[in-house]
Amino acid sequence: MEQNEHDDGASPSEVDASVPEVPEVPEVPEVPEVPDDTTAVSPAERVPTVGDVLLAIEELWPESLAEGWDAVGLVAGRSENRVDRIFFTVDPTSAVLDEALGWGATMIVSHHPLLLKPVSSVAASGFKGDVIHRLIEAGCALVTVHTNGDSAVGGVSDVLADALGLRDVEPLMRTADGLPEEGIGRVGNLEAPVALGAFAEAVFSILPAVAGGVRVAGDKDALVRRVAVCGGAGDSLFDRVRTNQADVYVTADLRHHPASEVREAAAGSTPYLIDVSHFGSEWLWLTPAADALGNVLSDQGFSTDIRVSGINTDPWDFVLTPGH
Ligand SMILES: [Zn+2]
Repeated sequence: MEQNEHDDGASPSEVDASVPEVPEVPEVPEVPEVPDDTTAVSPAERVPTVGDVLLAIEELWPESLAEGWDAVGLVAGRSENRVDRIFFTVDPTSAVLDEALGWGATMIVSHHPLLLKPVSSVAASGFKGDVIHRLIEAGCALVTVHTNGDSAVGGVSDVLADALGLRDVEPLMRTADGLPEEGIGRVGNLEAPVALGAFAEAVFSILPAVAGGVRVAGDKDALVRRVAVCGGAGDSLFDRVRTNQADVYVTADLRHHPASEVREAAAGSTPYLIDVSHFGSEWLWLTPAADALGNVLSDQGFSTDIRVSGINTDPWDFVLTPGH
């Protein structure tokens, strides 16, 4: 998620720093050319259109779950165009485009919006306009699944909670008029209490390697069991973290004042804070999301190749710490 509309989410630069081996979504077999007379084709051989994939996306991550300030859905593309290769990424950067178009993607599903703030030009001289031009020239659609992907069941924070082994998981803040399982952030319990230092190492171990690493506020030896998580920038949810009596909060992009005030109010006790890479916290969702979309399309008799980006779009390249 993004904290607010001031964060357009798209990273203007990207690094080639090491990311762990990206588990690829199993590819379905190559689909033969579909003849014009589609009535002669068995359902298992059908290639979906952009419109078909948008319906599957709506089934998984309904636009009604998106925050009011967000911009989700189709950014570029014609609904009747066929989609035989779908590519998932956190950010639609130019390096990601190189990767996706080099593979022959006909649709990119991006977590962060390319165009969150209004623009008055998509001239190719600007990096966003260049992305739009390259997409259209390559016949590749772009779709944003952002805060609707955060809030949905199986969304970004659900994946984070699952990767950390949390139990009895529920939303940190439920979506108005949504299902009880839908909403921003998640809170749940570890199987047994663990030291904050050991828990931070577990958080570090599930995330892709990024320059900034993981920052922790709290006593390394203090025991934690109840854990709140929010993929992306989650400092708007501190009240919910306290209401849910979480021992520790895992999120990204924590700024000095909100973090400092939480720690002052806690007087050395809970909630402790773990600040991770924004990109890393959301990257975990890509593979389960790609799997889920592949399953829905396949259940509908469609056949597509789906792949997840292996590019680290965290904008930071290196960090200096005491002793280094
Ligand atoms: Zn985000």
